[in-house]
Amino acid sequence: MEELEIDGLVVRETAAGEADKIITLLTAERGRITVSGKGVSSLRSKYAASAQMFAYSTFLLRRRSKYWYIADAFFIDNFMELRYDVEKLALANYVCDAACEFAQEEIENAELMSLTLNTLWAIANKKDIPLERIRGAFEFRLAAQEGFMPDLSGCAVCGRDVSGEDSTLDVMNGRLLCKKCRTLLENDPEYLADETAKILIRVSPPVLAALRFLEDAPQKRFLSFSLDKPEQSLFGVIAERYLLNHIEHGFTSLEYYKKVRT
Ligand SMILES: [Zn+2]
Repeated sequence: MEELEIDGLVVRETAAGEADKIITLLTAERGRITVSGKGVSSLRSKYAASAQMFAYSTFLLRRRSKYWYIADAFFIDNFMELRYDVEKLALANYVCDAACEFAQEEIENAELMSLTLNTLWAIANKKDIPLERIRGAFEFRLAAQEGFMPDLSGCAVCGRDVSGEDSTLDVMNGRLLCKKCRTLLENDPEYLADETAKILIRVSPPVLAALRFLEDAPQKRFLSFSLDKPEQSLFGVIAERYLLNHIEHGFTSLEYYKKVRT
C-alpha cells in the first residue's frame, strides 16, 4: 500500500453520501490529489477540520486501488477570516477554482501552491489591500507563471520604450504595442486575416508598471505595489481578461464574486 505524507490545501469538496466527501488537495510536490474522505463530514470525525474547504494541513495519505484515503491529518490553518465575509469567501472560492484549473495530478507545482496560499492569506488578513487588487494580482501572476507570461519590455513591433505613455496589450499574442504600431496593425490585411482572437486593451503607464512588477516580484511580495483608484479598475479589467482569455472560459465562482462584491 502506498503511503504519502504531504502538506495540502483543500481547494474543492464534494459531498458523497451522508458523511463522506471527495476532497481535492492542492500540493506543492504532487500537484492535485483527489482524496476520498470517509466520514469526514461528521462532526465527530477527527479529520473534519482538515477536510474542510480552505483547510491547510499535513496529511498522511494511503492509497488503496486508485483512491487516496486520510490515514491521519495535522491541521495547520484554515484562513478563518474568510468565513465571516461573503465577499472574501466568494473570492477565495474563485481563487481555488482558478488554481485547480492549472494543478495537474502528480506534477510538482510549488509556485502555484505558494501563490494560492499567499493569496488566500492576503484575502483573509490583509485589511489594507483592496480585494480587487488582490484578485487582479492573483489573476495576472497566475497567467504569467502558468505559461502565459507576456513580453512587457517594450513595443513588440518597433521596440519603442512605452513606459511613459499609453500602450496596448495584445492579449492573445502576449505582447505590447505602441500607438503607432497598433494603428498600423489594425490596418494590416495580413493581421486582420489571421484567426487569432484580437483582444487589444489600453494600458496606462502605472498599470504597466504594476504588471511588470507582478512578472518579476518574489512570491511573498507579489502584493507590494499600489495603484490609484481609476488605475485600479483598468488593472482589474486587464488581469481578468488576460487570464480568462488564455484559459478560454469563465468561472461560475467569479460571476458569483462579482454579484456579491461591494
Ligand atoms: Zn511600436
